[in-house]
Parts: sequence; structure tokens; C-alpha cells
Amino acid sequence: MDTLEFQCPQCDATCIAEMVVHWGGVNDYGWWIVRCGTCSHLFSQYVGRDVNDSLLREGGEVLEVLDRAIYTKEDVEERLIRLRETAVEQ
Ligand SMILES: [Zn+2]
Repeated sequence: MDTLEFQCPQCDATCIAEMVVHWGGVNDYGWWIVRCGTCSHLFSQYVGRDVNDSLLREGGEVLEVLDRAIYTKEDVEERLIRLRETAVEQ
């Protein structure tokens, strides 16, 4: 099983994801919007495997899955800003 490790840009907590790769098949690349399980910071993480089928196992939770076939990097940043605003209001 392939894993992907990345850090929260705010508190450096490690997130570990289980990557699903469809060998010889179609992989949907894209981004996750992740909420850090340690400090609740929201950030985007590019997933160069199947973004829909891979799972974040440790360190946080995936709030949204943004497929590169549909969304651009700019869309991801916009979405992130909107989610941060919503989080502040709550
Ligand atoms: Zn954090």
C-alpha cells in the first residue's frame, strides 16, 4: 500500500494518507482540503494519485475532494478561503 505523508503548514503535524492507484486505469488527480487534527488549520494538499479513492488515515480529515479534471488551482484557493471564513463564523 502506498502512503503519502505531508505536514500541516501551520503546526507541522504529520498527516498520513493511504494512496489508491489504479494501475493501468484512470487516476483522478486533484486536491484535498484538509482540516488539521491538531490545530484545526485548513489547507490544501495536492494528491497525485486517485484523489477520490485514497484515504486520509491519520492527522486530520478531508473536508472536500477537488478533482483536477473539474477544478483549477485557483478554484482550490478560493474554496479554501471560503471554508476558512465559514470556520471563523462558527
Ligand atoms: Zn496543524
